[in-house]
Order: sequence, then C-alpha cells, then structure tokens
Amino acid sequence: MYAGQVVEEAPVRDIFATPRHPYTLGLLASIPGSAELTADHRLPTIGGAPPNPLARPEGCRFAPRCPLAVDACRTAEPELAEIAPGRRTRCIRWQEVAR
Ligand code: SF4
Repeated sequence: MYAGQVVEEAPVRDIFATPRHPYTLGLLASIPGSAELTADHRLPTIGGAPPNPLARPEGCRFAPRCPLAVDACRTAEPELAEIAPGRRTRCIRWQEVAR
C-alpha cells in the first residue's frame, strides 16, 4: 500500500524475491538485517515523504519519490495491472524494476 492505494499484489515469496514496484523495492532495501548499510552505517531510506491526501500529485502517487520516474508517470495514474497470473503492480515501468 502507498498513499491509500494498493501498489503491488503477489504471493509473499514473489514479493520478497522479485518485487515489481519501486516502493516495494525501497521497503525491502530498508529491512534491518538484510539491508546493505549506507556509507555512514545507516539503513537505506526512501527519500521524501508520502503525499498530502488533500493534495496528491497528478499521475503516479509515488512519482515524487521514485528513482525511476519519467514524464509519463506524472501525467496519468497507473492502473493496478496484472503482469503475470497472481501478480499485479501499479507501475508502468515494472519491467525496468525487474532489471
Ligand atoms: S509509475 Fe513511474 S513513478 Fe510510479 S512507481 Fe512506476 S516508475 Fe515510479
């Protein structure tokens, strides 16, 4: 869930092994014990903050914080699209996430 929306759905093993949304990637990268610490020995974080519910951005709600955002992300809200049986993501660049 991000900013009131489901952004990714998949079986638990798939979520942890092969996330397909940048927010999921960010969350998994910050799990204590499994995360690579930053140069100053801190857990990685997702930059920025969730949007104000009364002033959400146009397009993808995660775009202001997303390292993969492109112009198309800011013009239309992504659908929660099925990318494989039992897997859905709300990211137009999920194939880049996979890489
Ligand atoms: S749609 Fe764009 S901004 Fe939103 S999560 Fe995917 S890459 Fe990032």
